[in-house]
Amino acid sequence: MDPIEELASHLRGAWQPGDGPTQSLFNPATQEAIAVVRPARELANALAFARDVGGASLRALTRKQRGELLQSAAKVLHEHREELIELAVRNGGNTRSDAKFDIDGATGVLSAYAELAGTLGDSPWLVDGEAVSLTRSGKVKVQHVLVPRHGVAVHINAFNFPAWGMIGKAAVAWLAGMPVLSKPATSTCWVAHRIAAILLEGKLLPEGALQLLVGPVGDLLDHLGPQDVVAFTGSADTGAKIRGHANVLRHGVRINVEADSLNAVIIGSDVSPGTELFDLVVRDCVTEITQKAGQKCTATRRILVPEHLLEAVRIALVERLDDIAARTGNPADPQVRMGPLATDQQLHDGRNGVHVLTADARVVRGDTGRTVFMGAADAKGWFLEPILLEATSAAALEPRAGFHRREVFGPVATLLPYDGSFARAAQIVAAGGGSLVSTVYSDDRDISSRATLELGAFLGRLVIAGEKIAAASFSPGLVFPQAAHGGPGRAGSGEELGGVRALALYSQRTAVQAGAAQLAKFSETHAG
Ligand code: NAP
Repeated sequence: MDPIEELASHLRGAWQPGDGPTQSLFNPATQEAIAVVRPARELANALAFARDVGGASLRALTRKQRGELLQSAAKVLHEHREELIELAVRNGGNTRSDAKFDIDGATGVLSAYAELAGTLGDSPWLVDGEAVSLTRSGKVKVQHVLVPRHGVAVHINAFNFPAWGMIGKAAVAWLAGMPVLSKPATSTCWVAHRIAAILLEGKLLPEGALQLLVGPVGDLLDHLGPQDVVAFTGSADTGAKIRGHANVLRHGVRINVEADSLNAVIIGSDVSPGTELFDLVVRDCVTEITQKAGQKCTATRRILVPEHLLEAVRIALVERLDDIAARTGNPADPQVRMGPLATDQQLHDGRNGVHVLTADARVVRGDTGRTVFMGAADAKGWFLEPILLEATSAAALEPRAGFHRREVFGPVATLLPYDGSFARAAQIVAAGGGSLVSTVYSDDRDISSRATLELGAFLGRLVIAGEKIAAASFSPGLVFPQAAHGGPGRAGSGEELGGVRALALYSQRTAVQAGAAQLAKFSETHAG
Protein backbone atom coordinates (compact mmCIF):
# COMPACT_ATOMS: atom_id res chain seq x y z
CA MET A 1 0.00 0.00 0.00
CA ASP A 2 1.31 3.51 -0.86
CA PRO A 3 2.12 5.75 2.14
CA ILE A 4 -0.48 8.36 3.07
CA GLU A 5 0.71 11.80 2.08
CA GLU A 6 -0.28 14.98 3.93
CA LEU A 7 -1.19 17.77 1.51
CA ALA A 8 -0.31 21.24 2.79
CA SER A 9 -1.81 24.61 1.93
CA HIS A 10 0.41 27.18 0.20
CA LEU A 11 -0.21 30.48 1.97
CA ARG A 12 1.81 33.65 2.57
CA GLY A 13 4.48 32.51 0.11
CA ALA A 14 5.22 29.06 1.59
CA TRP A 15 3.82 25.56 2.16
CA GLN A 16 2.06 25.65 5.53
CA PRO A 17 1.46 22.48 7.52
CA GLY A 18 -2.12 22.32 8.79
CA ASP A 19 -3.16 22.15 12.37
CA GLY A 20 -6.00 20.13 13.86
CA PRO A 21 -8.01 17.06 12.88
CA THR A 22 -7.20 15.31 9.60
CA GLN A 23 -9.63 14.72 6.74
CA SER A 24 -8.85 11.86 4.36
CA LEU A 25 -8.89 11.78 0.58
CA PHE A 26 -9.87 8.43 -0.93
CA ASN A 27 -9.62 6.44 -4.10
CA PRO A 28 -13.38 6.17 -4.77
CA ALA A 29 -12.98 2.95 -6.77
CA THR A 30 -11.30 1.09 -3.88
CA GLN A 31 -12.22 3.18 -0.82
CA GLU A 32 -8.51 3.26 0.05
CA ALA A 33 -7.38 6.41 1.95
CA ILE A 34 -4.62 8.01 -0.14
CA ALA A 35 -3.86 11.39 1.47
CA VAL A 36 -4.91 13.67 4.30
CA VAL A 37 -5.37 17.41 4.83
CA ARG A 38 -5.63 19.49 7.99
CA PRO A 39 -7.14 22.93 8.63
CA ALA A 40 -4.91 25.89 7.77
CA ARG A 41 -4.24 28.83 10.11
CA GLU A 42 -3.85 32.60 9.77
CA LEU A 43 -6.22 33.02 6.87
CA ALA A 44 -6.58 36.76 7.54
CA ASN A 45 -2.82 37.10 6.95
CA ALA A 46 -3.11 35.08 3.73
CA LEU A 47 -5.74 37.52 2.43
CA ALA A 48 -3.57 40.49 3.42
CA PHE A 49 -0.57 38.90 1.66
CA ALA A 50 -2.60 38.52 -1.53
CA ARG A 51 -3.85 42.13 -1.41
CA ASP A 52 -0.48 43.68 -0.52
CA VAL A 53 1.92 41.55 -2.52
CA GLY A 54 0.00 39.64 -5.20
CA GLY A 55 -2.40 42.41 -6.25
CA ALA A 56 0.28 45.05 -6.49
CA SER A 57 2.59 42.86 -8.58
CA LEU A 58 -0.18 41.73 -10.95
CA ARG A 59 -1.41 45.28 -11.52
CA ALA A 60 2.16 46.37 -12.26
CA LEU A 61 2.21 44.00 -15.25
CA THR A 62 0.77 45.06 -18.58
CA ARG A 63 -2.15 43.04 -19.90
CA LYS A 64 0.15 41.60 -22.55
CA GLN A 65 2.55 40.40 -19.84
CA ARG A 66 -0.33 38.83 -17.92
CA GLY A 67 -1.36 37.06 -21.13
CA GLU A 68 2.19 35.70 -21.54
CA LEU A 69 2.03 34.42 -18.01
CA LEU A 70 -1.19 32.52 -18.81
CA GLN A 71 0.39 31.01 -21.91
CA SER A 72 3.44 29.81 -19.96
CA ALA A 73 1.15 28.31 -17.30
CA ALA A 74 -0.81 26.45 -20.04
CA LYS A 75 2.42 25.09 -21.51
CA VAL A 76 3.81 23.87 -18.19
CA LEU A 77 0.54 22.25 -17.10
CA HIS A 78 0.32 20.51 -20.46
CA GLU A 79 3.82 19.13 -19.90
CA HIS A 80 2.52 17.58 -16.64
CA ARG A 81 -0.67 16.24 -18.26
CA GLU A 82 0.06 12.51 -17.75
CA GLU A 83 0.88 12.95 -14.08
CA LEU A 84 -2.32 15.00 -13.53
CA ILE A 85 -4.43 12.41 -15.37
CA GLU A 86 -3.09 9.67 -13.10
CA LEU A 87 -3.95 11.69 -10.01
CA ALA A 88 -7.48 12.36 -11.31
CA VAL A 89 -8.00 8.64 -11.93
CA ARG A 90 -6.78 7.83 -8.43
CA ASN A 91 -8.38 10.60 -6.38
CA GLY A 92 -11.40 11.51 -8.55
CA GLY A 93 -12.45 8.08 -9.86
CA ASN A 94 -12.14 9.56 -13.35
CA THR A 95 -11.64 7.42 -16.41
CA ARG A 96 -8.67 8.68 -18.45
CA SER A 97 -11.09 10.29 -20.85
CA ASP A 98 -12.90 12.10 -17.99
CA ALA A 99 -9.58 13.24 -16.55
CA LYS A 100 -8.48 14.64 -19.92
CA PHE A 101 -11.75 16.53 -20.18
CA ASP A 102 -10.94 18.32 -16.91
CA ILE A 103 -7.20 18.88 -17.43
CA ASP A 104 -7.31 19.83 -21.11
CA GLY A 105 -10.25 22.07 -20.27
CA ALA A 106 -8.00 23.90 -17.78
CA THR A 107 -5.13 24.44 -20.23
CA GLY A 108 -7.69 25.38 -22.91
CA VAL A 109 -9.03 28.24 -20.76
CA LEU A 110 -5.50 29.49 -20.05
CA SER A 111 -4.68 29.52 -23.77
CA ALA A 112 -7.98 31.17 -24.72
CA TYR A 113 -7.46 34.01 -22.21
CA ALA A 114 -3.79 34.35 -23.22
CA GLU A 115 -4.97 34.85 -26.78
CA LEU A 116 -7.68 37.29 -25.71
CA ALA A 117 -5.09 39.30 -23.75
CA GLY A 118 -3.30 40.00 -27.02
CA THR A 119 -6.40 41.68 -28.44
CA LEU A 120 -7.25 44.00 -25.52
CA GLY A 121 -4.45 46.56 -25.67
CA ASP A 122 -2.24 47.55 -22.79
CA SER A 123 -4.21 50.26 -21.03
CA PRO A 124 -4.39 49.68 -17.25
CA TRP A 125 -8.17 49.65 -17.58
CA LEU A 126 -10.65 48.44 -20.17
CA VAL A 127 -12.79 51.02 -21.91
CA ASP A 128 -16.45 49.97 -21.77
CA GLY A 129 -18.40 51.41 -24.70
CA GLU A 130 -18.12 54.90 -26.18
CA ALA A 131 -17.95 58.20 -24.27
CA VAL A 132 -21.45 59.72 -24.20
CA SER A 133 -22.28 63.47 -24.04
CA LEU A 134 -24.17 64.63 -20.97
CA THR A 135 -24.85 68.12 -22.31
CA ARG A 136 -26.17 69.40 -25.60
CA SER A 137 -22.92 71.22 -26.20
CA GLY A 138 -21.03 67.94 -25.79
CA LYS A 139 -18.62 69.64 -23.40
CA VAL A 140 -19.21 67.17 -20.58
CA LYS A 141 -19.11 63.44 -21.25
CA VAL A 142 -19.14 60.13 -19.41
CA GLN A 143 -16.87 57.21 -20.23
CA HIS A 144 -17.31 53.83 -18.51
CA VAL A 145 -14.14 51.92 -17.72
CA LEU A 146 -13.30 48.64 -15.95
CA VAL A 147 -10.44 48.90 -13.46
CA PRO A 148 -8.97 45.95 -11.52
CA ARG A 149 -10.29 45.60 -7.96
CA HIS A 150 -7.66 45.87 -5.22
CA GLY A 151 -8.78 42.82 -3.24
CA VAL A 152 -8.39 39.05 -3.43
CA ALA A 153 -10.28 36.71 -5.76
CA VAL A 154 -11.33 33.87 -3.45
CA HIS A 155 -12.23 30.82 -5.51
CA ILE A 156 -14.21 28.09 -3.77
CA ASN A 157 -14.62 25.11 -6.07
CA ALA A 158 -16.70 21.94 -6.37
CA PHE A 159 -15.23 18.44 -6.29
CA ASN A 160 -16.06 17.47 -9.85
CA PHE A 161 -13.60 19.60 -11.84
CA PRO A 162 -10.51 20.13 -9.67
CA ALA A 163 -8.40 21.36 -12.62
CA TRP A 164 -10.86 23.26 -14.84
CA GLY A 165 -12.72 24.69 -11.84
CA MET A 166 -9.51 26.09 -10.36
CA ILE A 167 -7.79 27.29 -13.50
CA GLY A 168 -10.92 28.46 -15.35
CA LYS A 169 -11.50 31.00 -12.59
CA ALA A 170 -7.86 31.86 -11.93
CA ALA A 171 -6.98 32.59 -15.59
CA VAL A 172 -9.65 35.30 -15.72
CA ALA A 173 -8.74 36.84 -12.35
CA TRP A 174 -5.04 37.00 -13.24
CA LEU A 175 -5.78 38.59 -16.59
CA ALA A 176 -8.01 41.14 -14.86
CA GLY A 177 -5.15 41.86 -12.40
CA MET A 178 -6.41 40.19 -9.21
CA PRO A 179 -4.52 37.69 -7.01
CA VAL A 180 -6.20 34.36 -6.29
CA LEU A 181 -6.74 32.33 -3.16
CA SER A 182 -8.04 28.99 -4.41
CA LYS A 183 -9.91 26.55 -2.20
CA PRO A 184 -10.63 23.22 -3.91
CA ALA A 185 -13.25 20.81 -2.57
CA THR A 186 -11.46 18.61 -0.05
CA SER A 187 -12.48 15.18 -1.39
CA THR A 188 -10.69 15.59 -4.76
CA CYS A 189 -8.13 18.31 -4.01
CA TRP A 190 -5.03 16.37 -4.97
CA VAL A 191 -5.14 17.48 -8.64
CA ALA A 192 -5.56 21.14 -7.61
CA HIS A 193 -2.75 20.73 -5.07
CA ARG A 194 -0.42 19.36 -7.75
CA ILE A 195 -1.37 22.15 -10.19
CA ALA A 196 -0.57 24.75 -7.54
CA ALA A 197 2.76 23.04 -6.81
CA ILE A 198 3.68 23.01 -10.52
CA LEU A 199 2.86 26.71 -10.95
CA LEU A 200 4.35 27.90 -7.65
CA GLU A 201 7.52 25.82 -7.67
CA GLY A 202 8.05 26.65 -11.35
CA LYS A 203 7.82 30.35 -10.35
CA LEU A 204 5.41 30.98 -13.20
CA LEU A 205 3.44 33.65 -11.36
CA PRO A 206 4.37 36.79 -9.45
CA GLU A 207 4.67 36.34 -5.68
CA GLY A 208 1.25 36.30 -4.00
CA ALA A 209 -0.71 35.81 -7.25
CA LEU A 210 -1.75 32.28 -6.22
CA GLN A 211 -2.39 30.78 -2.79
CA LEU A 212 -3.92 27.39 -2.16
CA LEU A 213 -6.10 26.54 0.80
CA VAL A 214 -6.71 22.81 1.27
CA GLY A 215 -9.07 21.50 3.94
CA PRO A 216 -11.97 23.40 5.42
CA VAL A 217 -12.69 27.03 4.60
CA GLY A 218 -12.37 27.90 8.31
CA ASP A 219 -12.89 31.56 9.16
CA LEU A 220 -11.82 32.80 5.72
CA LEU A 221 -15.10 34.58 4.98
CA ASP A 222 -14.88 36.51 8.28
CA HIS A 223 -11.84 38.39 6.93
CA LEU A 224 -13.09 39.39 3.50
CA GLY A 225 -13.22 43.07 2.67
CA PRO A 226 -15.03 45.40 0.26
CA GLN A 227 -12.56 44.96 -2.63
CA ASP A 228 -12.63 41.13 -2.48
CA VAL A 229 -14.55 38.81 -4.79
CA VAL A 230 -15.80 35.30 -4.04
CA ALA A 231 -16.42 33.05 -7.02
CA PHE A 232 -18.12 29.93 -5.73
CA THR A 233 -19.04 26.71 -7.51
CA GLY A 234 -20.90 24.02 -5.65
CA SER A 235 -24.23 23.15 -4.18
CA ALA A 236 -27.06 25.65 -3.85
CA ASP A 237 -27.03 25.12 -0.06
CA THR A 238 -23.39 26.16 0.35
CA GLY A 239 -23.94 29.01 -2.13
CA ALA A 240 -26.78 30.31 0.06
CA LYS A 241 -24.57 30.12 3.18
CA ILE A 242 -21.85 32.17 1.49
CA ARG A 243 -24.32 34.74 0.17
CA GLY A 244 -25.89 35.13 3.59
CA HIS A 245 -22.60 35.27 5.56
CA ALA A 246 -22.71 38.28 7.91
CA ASN A 247 -19.27 39.66 7.00
CA VAL A 248 -19.91 39.18 3.29
CA LEU A 249 -23.15 41.14 3.61
CA ARG A 250 -21.58 43.83 5.82
CA HIS A 251 -18.79 44.60 3.36
CA GLY A 252 -20.77 44.11 0.18
CA VAL A 253 -18.24 41.48 -0.94
CA ARG A 254 -18.92 40.67 -4.58
CA ILE A 255 -20.18 37.10 -4.98
CA ASN A 256 -20.60 34.91 -8.04
CA VAL A 257 -22.44 31.63 -7.53
CA GLU A 258 -22.49 28.66 -9.92
CA ALA A 259 -24.78 26.03 -8.44
CA ASP A 260 -27.16 23.17 -9.29
CA SER A 261 -28.82 22.85 -12.65
CA LEU A 262 -31.55 20.69 -14.18
CA ASN A 263 -30.36 20.95 -17.76
CA ALA A 264 -32.84 19.83 -20.40
CA VAL A 265 -32.81 18.44 -23.89
CA ILE A 266 -35.79 19.13 -26.16
CA ILE A 267 -36.17 16.66 -28.98
CA GLY A 268 -38.15 18.44 -31.72
CA SER A 269 -41.24 16.76 -33.15
CA ASP A 270 -39.55 16.80 -36.59
CA VAL A 271 -36.72 14.46 -35.50
CA SER A 272 -37.08 10.92 -36.94
CA PRO A 273 -35.42 7.65 -36.00
CA GLY A 274 -32.87 6.51 -38.56
CA THR A 275 -31.58 10.06 -39.24
CA GLU A 276 -28.23 11.53 -38.34
CA LEU A 277 -30.00 13.98 -36.03
CA PHE A 278 -31.71 11.19 -34.08
CA ASP A 279 -28.35 9.43 -33.69
CA LEU A 280 -26.84 12.72 -32.46
CA VAL A 281 -29.56 13.10 -29.83
CA VAL A 282 -28.86 9.60 -28.52
CA ARG A 283 -25.07 10.04 -28.61
CA ASP A 284 -25.22 13.42 -26.81
CA CYS A 285 -27.69 12.20 -24.18
CA VAL A 286 -25.51 9.18 -23.38
CA THR A 287 -22.41 11.38 -23.13
CA GLU A 288 -24.21 13.88 -20.93
CA ILE A 289 -25.60 11.19 -18.62
CA THR A 290 -22.39 9.18 -18.20
CA GLN A 291 -19.36 11.45 -18.69
CA LYS A 292 -17.69 11.91 -15.28
CA ALA A 293 -20.36 9.50 -14.01
CA GLY A 294 -22.91 12.28 -14.43
CA GLN A 295 -21.09 14.53 -11.94
CA LYS A 296 -21.16 17.54 -14.25
CA CYS A 297 -23.07 20.74 -13.63
CA THR A 298 -23.95 20.76 -17.35
CA ALA A 299 -25.07 17.10 -17.50
CA THR A 300 -28.47 16.40 -19.05
CA ARG A 301 -31.05 15.66 -16.36
CA ARG A 302 -34.36 16.03 -18.25
CA ILE A 303 -34.99 14.70 -21.76
CA LEU A 304 -38.16 16.07 -23.38
CA VAL A 305 -39.42 13.60 -25.97
CA PRO A 306 -42.42 14.04 -28.30
CA GLU A 307 -44.90 11.31 -27.34
CA HIS A 308 -44.67 9.59 -30.74
CA LEU A 309 -40.87 9.19 -30.31
CA LEU A 310 -40.89 8.00 -26.72
CA GLU A 311 -40.48 4.30 -27.40
CA ALA A 312 -37.77 4.77 -30.04
CA VAL A 313 -35.76 7.12 -27.81
CA ARG A 314 -36.15 4.86 -24.76
CA ILE A 315 -35.01 1.76 -26.67
CA ALA A 316 -32.00 3.55 -28.18
CA LEU A 317 -30.89 5.08 -24.87
CA VAL A 318 -31.38 1.89 -22.87
CA GLU A 319 -29.29 -0.06 -25.37
CA ARG A 320 -26.38 2.42 -25.18
CA LEU A 321 -26.63 2.82 -21.40
CA ASP A 322 -26.67 -0.99 -20.96
CA ASP A 323 -23.34 -1.09 -22.75
CA ILE A 324 -21.85 1.53 -20.40
CA ALA A 325 -23.39 -0.16 -17.35
CA ALA A 326 -21.56 -3.37 -18.33
CA ARG A 327 -18.32 -1.39 -18.34
CA THR A 328 -18.84 0.66 -15.19
CA GLY A 329 -16.09 0.04 -12.67
CA ASN A 330 -12.57 0.82 -11.51
CA PRO A 331 -11.07 3.29 -14.01
CA ALA A 332 -7.63 1.77 -13.43
CA ASP A 333 -8.96 -0.95 -15.79
CA PRO A 334 -8.64 0.47 -19.34
CA GLN A 335 -11.84 -1.28 -20.48
CA VAL A 336 -13.93 0.72 -18.02
CA ARG A 337 -16.12 3.41 -19.63
CA MET A 338 -17.61 4.96 -16.47
CA GLY A 339 -16.06 5.28 -13.01
CA PRO A 340 -17.50 5.66 -9.51
CA LEU A 341 -18.98 8.70 -7.81
CA ALA A 342 -16.42 10.76 -5.92
CA THR A 343 -17.38 9.98 -2.32
CA ASP A 344 -19.57 7.74 -0.21
CA GLN A 345 -21.72 10.82 0.52
CA GLN A 346 -22.25 11.38 -3.23
CA LEU A 347 -23.33 7.74 -3.61
CA HIS A 348 -25.69 8.06 -0.67
CA ASP A 349 -27.14 11.32 -2.10
CA GLY A 350 -27.38 9.78 -5.59
CA ARG A 351 -29.32 6.73 -4.40
CA ASN A 352 -31.51 8.87 -2.22
CA GLY A 353 -32.09 11.31 -5.11
CA VAL A 354 -33.22 8.49 -7.43
CA HIS A 355 -35.63 7.42 -4.73
CA VAL A 356 -37.05 10.97 -4.62
CA LEU A 357 -37.44 10.98 -8.43
CA THR A 358 -39.41 7.72 -8.31
CA ALA A 359 -42.30 9.56 -6.65
CA ASP A 360 -43.04 11.08 -10.09
CA ALA A 361 -41.33 8.75 -12.57
CA ARG A 362 -40.57 5.03 -12.98
CA VAL A 363 -37.10 3.55 -13.47
CA VAL A 364 -36.79 2.09 -16.98
CA ARG A 365 -33.12 1.12 -16.69
CA GLY A 366 -30.66 0.67 -13.85
CA ASP A 367 -30.49 -0.52 -10.30
CA THR A 368 -29.22 1.72 -7.49
CA GLY A 369 -28.50 -1.37 -5.35
CA ARG A 370 -26.03 -3.01 -7.76
CA THR A 371 -22.74 -3.88 -6.01
CA VAL A 372 -20.64 -5.79 -8.56
CA PHE A 373 -18.64 -3.68 -11.02
CA MET A 374 -15.85 -4.21 -13.55
CA GLY A 375 -12.35 -4.43 -12.03
CA ALA A 376 -13.67 -3.57 -8.56
CA ALA A 377 -13.41 -5.72 -5.44
CA ASP A 378 -16.83 -7.00 -4.44
CA ALA A 379 -18.90 -4.31 -2.69
CA LYS A 380 -15.93 -1.88 -2.70
CA GLY A 381 -16.11 1.48 -4.47
CA TRP A 382 -18.81 4.17 -4.67
CA PHE A 383 -20.42 3.06 -7.92
CA LEU A 384 -23.80 4.00 -9.33
CA GLU A 385 -24.73 2.52 -12.70
CA PRO A 386 -26.61 4.64 -15.30
CA ILE A 387 -30.22 5.13 -14.27
CA LEU A 388 -32.93 6.21 -16.73
CA LEU A 389 -36.39 7.15 -15.50
CA GLU A 390 -39.55 7.96 -17.38
CA ALA A 391 -42.50 10.14 -16.35
CA THR A 392 -45.97 10.42 -17.86
CA SER A 393 -46.92 13.46 -19.97
CA ALA A 394 -49.14 14.68 -17.13
CA ALA A 395 -46.39 14.35 -14.49
CA ALA A 396 -43.92 16.18 -16.80
CA LEU A 397 -46.12 19.28 -16.50
CA GLU A 398 -46.18 19.23 -12.71
CA PRO A 399 -43.74 21.93 -11.52
CA ARG A 400 -43.41 20.30 -8.09
CA ALA A 401 -42.29 16.95 -9.53
CA GLY A 402 -38.91 15.74 -8.25
CA PHE A 403 -37.22 15.91 -11.66
CA HIS A 404 -37.91 19.67 -11.80
CA ARG A 405 -36.57 20.25 -8.29
CA ARG A 406 -33.89 17.71 -7.44
CA GLU A 407 -30.50 17.55 -9.12
CA VAL A 408 -29.26 13.98 -8.72
CA PHE A 409 -25.52 14.45 -9.17
CA GLY A 410 -24.79 11.15 -10.90
CA PRO A 411 -25.53 9.23 -14.12
CA VAL A 412 -29.26 9.82 -13.85
CA ALA A 413 -31.80 11.38 -16.25
CA THR A 414 -35.55 11.33 -16.76
CA LEU A 415 -37.52 11.02 -20.01
CA LEU A 416 -40.36 13.54 -20.05
CA PRO A 417 -42.92 12.97 -22.83
CA TYR A 418 -44.64 16.04 -24.25
CA ASP A 419 -47.13 16.78 -27.02
CA GLY A 420 -44.47 17.99 -29.47
CA SER A 421 -45.46 21.67 -29.29
CA PHE A 422 -42.67 24.09 -28.52
CA ALA A 423 -44.87 26.06 -26.12
CA ARG A 424 -45.35 22.96 -23.95
CA ALA A 425 -41.65 22.11 -24.09
CA ALA A 426 -40.75 25.65 -23.00
CA GLN A 427 -43.14 25.37 -20.05
CA ILE A 428 -41.46 22.14 -18.93
CA VAL A 429 -37.92 23.56 -19.26
CA ALA A 430 -38.92 26.65 -17.24
CA ALA A 431 -40.21 24.43 -14.42
CA GLY A 432 -36.54 23.60 -13.63
CA GLY A 433 -36.17 27.07 -12.12
CA GLY A 434 -33.22 28.21 -14.24
CA SER A 435 -30.51 26.10 -15.89
CA LEU A 436 -26.95 26.38 -17.13
CA VAL A 437 -27.70 24.94 -20.54
CA SER A 438 -30.47 23.35 -22.56
CA THR A 439 -30.42 21.96 -26.06
CA VAL A 440 -33.00 21.91 -28.83
CA TYR A 441 -32.61 19.27 -31.55
CA SER A 442 -34.66 20.31 -34.58
CA ASP A 443 -34.44 21.34 -38.21
CA ASP A 444 -37.37 23.74 -37.93
CA ARG A 445 -36.08 26.88 -39.68
CA ASP A 446 -37.64 29.25 -37.14
CA ILE A 447 -36.45 27.34 -34.09
CA SER A 448 -33.53 29.57 -33.14
CA SER A 449 -35.59 32.76 -32.76
CA ARG A 450 -38.48 30.96 -31.09
CA ALA A 451 -36.23 29.08 -28.66
CA THR A 452 -34.24 32.23 -27.83
CA LEU A 453 -37.41 34.16 -27.07
CA GLU A 454 -39.21 31.45 -25.09
CA LEU A 455 -36.27 29.76 -23.33
CA GLY A 456 -33.58 32.44 -23.17
CA ALA A 457 -34.76 33.91 -19.86
CA PHE A 458 -34.40 30.52 -18.16
CA LEU A 459 -30.97 29.54 -19.48
CA GLY A 460 -27.35 30.60 -19.35
CA ARG A 461 -26.65 28.87 -22.66
CA LEU A 462 -28.93 27.63 -25.42
CA VAL A 463 -27.64 25.03 -27.87
CA ILE A 464 -29.47 24.43 -31.15
CA ALA A 465 -28.48 21.33 -33.07
CA GLY A 466 -29.81 20.30 -36.49
CA GLU A 467 -29.10 17.66 -39.13
CA LYS A 468 -26.77 19.94 -41.11
CA ILE A 469 -24.30 20.39 -38.25
CA ALA A 470 -24.82 16.94 -36.71
CA ALA A 471 -21.37 15.76 -37.73
CA ALA A 472 -19.63 18.90 -36.43
CA SER A 473 -21.72 19.41 -33.30
CA PHE A 474 -20.28 19.42 -29.74
CA SER A 475 -21.95 17.65 -26.85
CA PRO A 476 -23.89 20.40 -25.00
CA GLY A 477 -22.11 19.90 -21.67
CA LEU A 478 -18.85 21.17 -23.14
CA VAL A 479 -18.20 24.68 -21.83
CA PHE A 480 -16.10 26.89 -24.10
CA PRO A 481 -14.19 29.85 -22.61
CA GLN A 482 -15.69 31.98 -25.37
CA ALA A 483 -19.27 31.29 -24.18
CA ALA A 484 -20.72 32.58 -20.91
CA HIS A 485 -21.17 29.89 -18.24
CA GLY A 486 -23.79 30.36 -15.54
CA GLY A 487 -27.55 30.37 -15.29
CA PRO A 488 -30.43 32.12 -13.57
CA GLY A 489 -32.30 31.03 -10.44
CA ARG A 490 -31.44 27.52 -9.26
CA ALA A 491 -28.21 27.61 -11.27
CA GLY A 492 -26.97 30.41 -8.98
CA SER A 493 -27.59 33.52 -11.13
CA GLY A 494 -23.86 33.71 -11.76
CA GLU A 495 -21.83 34.20 -14.90
CA GLU A 496 -18.27 33.18 -15.70
CA LEU A 497 -16.18 32.94 -18.88
CA GLY A 498 -17.73 34.33 -22.08
CA GLY A 499 -14.47 35.89 -23.32
CA VAL A 500 -13.90 39.49 -22.23
CA ARG A 501 -17.21 39.59 -20.29
CA ALA A 502 -15.64 37.49 -17.54
CA LEU A 503 -13.19 40.26 -16.59
CA ALA A 504 -16.06 42.37 -15.24
CA LEU A 505 -16.37 40.14 -12.13
CA TYR A 506 -12.85 41.10 -11.05
CA SER A 507 -13.10 44.77 -12.06
CA GLN A 508 -14.90 47.87 -10.91
CA ARG A 509 -17.00 49.53 -13.59
CA THR A 510 -16.40 53.23 -13.02
CA ALA A 511 -18.22 55.97 -14.89
CA VAL A 512 -15.61 58.69 -15.44
CA GLN A 513 -17.45 61.97 -15.92
CA ALA A 514 -15.36 64.89 -17.18
CA GLY A 515 -14.93 67.54 -19.81
CA ALA A 516 -14.71 66.25 -23.36
CA ALA A 517 -11.12 67.45 -23.73
CA GLN A 518 -10.10 65.68 -20.51
CA LEU A 519 -11.71 62.42 -21.64
CA ALA A 520 -10.18 62.64 -25.10
CA LYS A 521 -6.76 63.00 -23.51
CA PHE A 522 -7.62 60.13 -21.22
CA SER A 523 -8.29 57.77 -24.09
CA GLU A 524 -5.36 59.16 -26.13
CA THR A 525 -3.02 58.51 -23.23
CA HIS A 526 -4.25 55.09 -22.33
CA ALA A 527 -5.95 53.47 -25.28
CA GLY A 528 -4.14 50.24 -26.10
P1 NAP B 1 -20.41 21.75 -1.99
O1 NAP B 1 -20.53 20.68 -0.99
O2 NAP B 1 -21.34 22.90 -1.92
O3 NAP B 1 -18.89 22.25 -1.86
C1 NAP B 1 -18.37 23.21 -2.75
C2 NAP B 1 -17.20 23.91 -2.10
O4 NAP B 1 -17.66 24.70 -0.99
C3 NAP B 1 -16.15 22.98 -1.53
O5 NAP B 1 -14.88 23.54 -1.78
C4 NAP B 1 -16.46 22.98 -0.05
O6 NAP B 1 -15.34 22.67 0.75
C5 NAP B 1 -16.86 24.41 0.14
N1 NAP B 1 -17.66 24.68 1.34
C6 NAP B 1 -18.36 23.79 2.08
N2 NAP B 1 -18.99 24.45 3.09
C7 NAP B 1 -18.67 25.75 2.98
C8 NAP B 1 -19.01 26.92 3.72
N3 NAP B 1 -19.81 26.88 4.77
N4 NAP B 1 -18.50 28.09 3.32
C9 NAP B 1 -17.69 28.17 2.24
N5 NAP B 1 -17.34 27.09 1.49
C10 NAP B 1 -17.82 25.90 1.86
O7 NAP B 1 -20.51 21.19 -3.47
P2 NAP B 1 -19.80 19.91 -4.10
O8 NAP B 1 -20.44 18.70 -3.52
O9 NAP B 1 -18.31 20.03 -4.05
O10 NAP B 1 -20.21 20.05 -5.63
C11 NAP B 1 -21.38 19.52 -6.19
C12 NAP B 1 -22.33 20.60 -6.58
O11 NAP B 1 -21.67 21.59 -7.35
C13 NAP B 1 -23.47 20.11 -7.47
O12 NAP B 1 -24.67 20.55 -6.94
C14 NAP B 1 -23.20 20.76 -8.81
O13 NAP B 1 -24.35 21.06 -9.54
C15 NAP B 1 -22.49 21.98 -8.43
N6 NAP B 1 -21.64 22.42 -9.53
C16 NAP B 1 -22.01 23.52 -10.25
C17 NAP B 1 -21.22 23.96 -11.29
C18 NAP B 1 -21.59 25.18 -12.08
O14 NAP B 1 -20.75 25.68 -12.81
N7 NAP B 1 -22.80 25.69 -11.96
C19 NAP B 1 -20.04 23.27 -11.62
C20 NAP B 1 -19.71 22.16 -10.88
C21 NAP B 1 -20.52 21.73 -9.84
P3 NAP B 1 -15.16 21.18 1.36
O15 NAP B 1 -15.05 20.26 0.19
O16 NAP B 1 -13.90 21.30 2.13
O17 NAP B 1 -16.37 20.92 2.19
